[in-house]
Amino acid sequence: MANINIPEIFGCRVFNDATMKERLPKGTYKDLKKTIEEGKALDIAIANVVAHSMKEWAIENGATHFTHWFQPMTGITAEKHDSFISPTPDGKVIMEFSGKELIKGEPDASSFPSGGIRATFEARGYTAWDPSSYAFIKDGSLCIPTAFCSYTGEILDKKTPLLRSMEVVNVQALRILRIFGDTTTKRVETTVGPEQEYFLVDKEVFNKRKDLIYCGRTLFGARPPKGQELDDHYFGTIKPRVSAYMKELDEELWKYGILAKTKHNEVAPAQHELAPIFDTSNIATDHNQLTMAVMKRVAERHGLVCLLHEKPFAGVNGSGKHNNWSMSTNKGKNLLDPSKNPRENTQFLVFLAAVIKAVDEHQDLLRLSVASAGNDHRLGANEAPPAILSMYLGDELTAVLHSIETDQVYENKQDSIMQTNANVLPNFVKDTSDRNRTSPFAFTGNKFEFRMLGSAENIACTNTIINTIVADVLQEFADILEKAEDVKAAAEALVKKTLAEHKRIIFNGDNYSDEWVAEAERRGLLNLRSLPEVMPMYVSPKNVALFGKHGIYTEVELRSRCEILLEKYSKIINIEALTALDMAKKDIVPAVAAYIRDLAETANLIKSVDAEIVTVPETELMKKLANLLSCFLRKIDLLDKAVMGAKEVDGVADKAMYYKEKVLAAMQELRAVADEMESNMSAKLWPYPSYGTMLFSV
Ligand code: ADP
Ligand code: MG
Repeated sequence: MANINIPEIFGCRVFNDATMKERLPKGTYKDLKKTIEEGKALDIAIANVVAHSMKEWAIENGATHFTHWFQPMTGITAEKHDSFISPTPDGKVIMEFSGKELIKGEPDASSFPSGGIRATFEARGYTAWDPSSYAFIKDGSLCIPTAFCSYTGEILDKKTPLLRSMEVVNVQALRILRIFGDTTTKRVETTVGPEQEYFLVDKEVFNKRKDLIYCGRTLFGARPPKGQELDDHYFGTIKPRVSAYMKELDEELWKYGILAKTKHNEVAPAQHELAPIFDTSNIATDHNQLTMAVMKRVAERHGLVCLLHEKPFAGVNGSGKHNNWSMSTNKGKNLLDPSKNPRENTQFLVFLAAVIKAVDEHQDLLRLSVASAGNDHRLGANEAPPAILSMYLGDELTAVLHSIETDQVYENKQDSIMQTNANVLPNFVKDTSDRNRTSPFAFTGNKFEFRMLGSAENIACTNTIINTIVADVLQEFADILEKAEDVKAAAEALVKKTLAEHKRIIFNGDNYSDEWVAEAERRGLLNLRSLPEVMPMYVSPKNVALFGKHGIYTEVELRSRCEILLEKYSKIINIEALTALDMAKKDIVPAVAAYIRDLAETANLIKSVDAEIVTVPETELMKKLANLLSCFLRKIDLLDKAVMGAKEVDGVADKAMYYKEKVLAAMQELRAVADEMESNMSAKLWPYPSYGTMLFSV
């Protein structure tokens, strides 16, 4: 294979800073940069020049169309492509793209989920360019990352609140920096590095499974003889076919200017992970959306299907997305860097305390930000963090905070040297924070890693919430500290008070243990296992006030979001139930019946040869399967009734709860019988590829 020149291809499909600098008139470039840096709206005169230059570049790179690329509440990205063509009087066309088309689009909003907003307002929607996220070329279209709102200004997407929340962090974090004497920092950005997990299955195998096609997850499937119990997949050697996929994926992502960095096999068979280098939250979000789309596309070219669902297979790990989060100044200083001596780094301690308080006070929001029908299968199972939120700080910070709480002197920990005791290996300095893989919200050196996110979800919602809750506490802290005469003393007192009030959220032990569930309950921490339980909390008075105060969501917007998410949950379970019924009635029942007939015929044959034979083994198996099949038919009936019953339930919240308690439960019962039959069936007659085939055939 030919060598590729990575620096050369990196960002070749992106109208990035270097390209802008090269192609835009100096003045326009400067104006645009200023607009981006100050987070201002773009002037139409500048936009016209930028649009022209963008179009020329796009055409040179094979584009014929442009599209505003946005993130509606569907969870995936949306695009509507317009060609650059414009007719001329002589019957020909010229290629045109105006500043107006660049900065504003008017897609019809009526077919996107709006949670009732549309009913009360006009159907028109607007998209507006987010100039801090570069335009890029995908499939011959110039894609312009945009925000999406309704005619009257209600937001209809996931990007706008994220941008708003970043601004709120900027304002409040700057206040803290000023209090500590920093007069030069201009902006504080939140940064995110999302680690993305996924499964790869063979395309031909995938095509034989209706459940994977319609639902992205298996609804049936007996456990294979081998799963992940040997821990031999995690970080294991990557198979050639997967390796070829990952190689092309990296190259594609690099062309989009995405900093794909780490790739490895994950715990479950056929499961893998990709992590980029972190970026500012909005760009990390755009890039993660693009990454997921590219992952799926590249897979097709390798005869594979990339599954992003949180729980494609029962019995092995599901997929998550670790959201590494921090705050950084425009000068690149990480505000969550504890430095060599965190005990004396009061500014760091204030930021740390703010995150602790925010997480404790808003467990509900963090939990609901990761709730989805898919992720419900993961949280609370023995693989991902549990549904209970808690924070891990590591030994050093825990000791530092303890010394503050108890007014004790803190002995600054020296770098501890790891003795490898093998001459050929170098000794190395140990990190001061160890890892706790079971913690949902862990401090990992100079950032927090929120691990409850599902693999398929857009990270915008979670980051909007992290930003807002942290900004809210920073504001409260800034209000107090700005009035203090002795800032250091006041800040220490504030940290101490915060710890006393919120240390229940800190837990350094094993989050998977039963003892923790009991302990968490004693501490009064929330344990919300499913979306229908947690989602209605979105619109609690506390949350309406919080989002309103910071201008992130109005109450109308919040209610619409809550409704959309509850509705989506019900729709997903409904699709799953209908798929399960379809598979059960059309494929599984006939297959088992056919096998029973085979067995009966064989039994009769044996008896016809020797009428003396009393016990024919085929008869035993036939009876067993016939019993299972009758039971299966009853379960089909129950699921059918459960699905019908949903029509009688009013209200989105009650409906979602019904789907969870009645429909999902009936699906699980149906599955149990199917899996039992599969285990006792001829593999040849079973209508679907087995778990073994799906998990081990790539
Ligand atoms: P691990 O799997 O050990 O958690 P990875 O290297 O897979 O670590 O992922 C760590 C992620 O954290 C990467 O995406 C990395 O870019 C990101 N990260 C590092 N520093 C920061 C930061 N300051 N802010 C946000 N994300 C960060
Ligand atoms: Mg990782």
